[in-house]
Amino acid sequence: MTEYQDKTIKCVDCGTEFVFTARDQAFYAEKGFTNEPKRCKECREKRKAEKANKESNN
Ligand SMILES: [Zn+2]
Repeated sequence: MTEYQDKTIKCVDCGTEFVFTARDQAFYAEKGFTNEPKRCKECREKRKAEKANKESNN
């Protein structure tokens, strides 16, 4: 069993440092995601919202 430790990552969009928690890392590994998140929660939500916007304006 792997032990995870909280990790600080700098958001590529806004430069804010956010925590990739041990719990999230375990979740990612469980889902088979090999990439770490590159964006903070805010930027991810923003991108998600923008994408949803685009799709609804189609
Ligand atoms: Zn950000």
